Amino acid sequence: MEDSTSRSTKKKVVAVVGGGLVGALNACFLAKRGFDVEVFETREDIRKAQIVRGRSINLALSHRGRQALRHVGMEEKIVSQGIPMHARMIHSLSGKQSPIPYGKKGQYILSVDRANLNKQLLSEADTYPNTKLNFDHKLHDWSAETGMMTFVRPDGSKVQLKADLIVGCDGAFSATRKQFLRRSRFNYSQTYIPHGYMELTMPPVNGEFAMKPNYLHIWPRNTFMMIALPNLDKTFTCTLFMPFEDFEKIATGDEVIEFFQKYFPDAIPLIGEEALRRDYFRLPAQAMVSVKCSPYHIHDKCVLMGDAAHAVVPFYGQGMNAGFEDCIVFDEVLDRFSEDLGAVLPEYSRVRVPDDHAIADLAMYNYIEMRAHVNSKWFLFRKHVDNV
Ligand code: FAD
Repeated sequence: MEDSTSRSTKKKVVAVVGGGLVGALNACFLAKRGFDVEVFETREDIRKAQIVRGRSINLALSHRGRQALRHVGMEEKIVSQGIPMHARMIHSLSGKQSPIPYGKKGQYILSVDRANLNKQLLSEADTYPNTKLNFDHKLHDWSAETGMMTFVRPDGSKVQLKADLIVGCDGAFSATRKQFLRRSRFNYSQTYIPHGYMELTMPPVNGEFAMKPNYLHIWPRNTFMMIALPNLDKTFTCTLFMPFEDFEKIATGDEVIEFFQKYFPDAIPLIGEEALRRDYFRLPAQAMVSVKCSPYHIHDKCVLMGDAAHAVVPFYGQGMNAGFEDCIVFDEVLDRFSEDLGAVLPEYSRVRVPDDHAIADLAMYNYIEMRAHVNSKWFLFRKHVDNV
């Protein structure tokens, strides 16, 4: 049997644009097949960076994400660094906590550190001799006819490179996707929801978690909500989701405390009054966008995956998981069509677009479910009945 190194000399050159979660995992999948893989990432190498900027500090990893990690031998490594969350823990206004399990006994999702996951996936991709990671390379433009890409370096200089296949994994505001927008019969929609999000940290108490760690804590307040996911350093990352106009109404430290006293009184001593007064104003609330498009490919030249193809609102905890699943589906289609890209790319769009659109719709639905429906007595009753 040929090993991947000898095969790579005959293989096509695949450029993965974006070395985020999906791009780094995809590089592993593609390198494993023996393609010559070049990853181009606009940021510096986050494994060496002091501060890693990203969207959320931690993420919920679930079944479909784990399956994809298993394909490249990364599941155990990542799972061992995650914290199982067996249920949602609903915090009422009075501070009463009621668990709602996610599934059957023993089933759980995992809270994982985004930066660590990204670093581990990049390091895994780096272990393949047929993969090259190019940091500080921002895709500026590319040609659907020739596959020629132009990258801008931090000093303003330009680099041009050609690939047989371009895999756009460059996130919700994808530069790869711009070429698609110029073409006929490309469907595209983008929706910003009226809510923004803000992250706050709940520190450990006497070296231990301030709340029960094996839960995804939720404070549903109908038109807005706060959630908290545990981290390995025994902190919780709390995320407040609220309409932008409500964020803007709170202008002073006293108003922050007043707001928390009214809606999240049990969280004040756990986050700390001083920290709340300070951290609320540290960064403005961030926007959330949902992107749907189709098809995901141009000829045999380019395919979009992850948030570049389907950015979803975070309420279903499936954005990254669905992006990871994209990698498995693409891998399966490559097998089925013996890596004939002219057949693989349209088939990938055909099978993947409906599923990714369904995830986007479910995420929008769960936006209301999490902040409002979990409050209803009927919902709590049904969950109780489901789980006895
Ligand atoms: P990104 O993570 O955005 O990575 C894109 C990469 O491309 C980045 O590294 C970027 O620097 C690079 N890039 C961008 N432009 C260029 C360019 N021009 N040239 C080269 N490189 C470029 N998902 C879950 O599954 N579970 C969760 O619990 C969850 N929680 C979330 C919470 C919040 C608050 C948010 C906002 C999202 C959450 N998500 C969650 C969604 C998840 O973050 C995304 O789906 C995931 O990050 C998508 O990965 P990606 O690699 O496609 O895109």
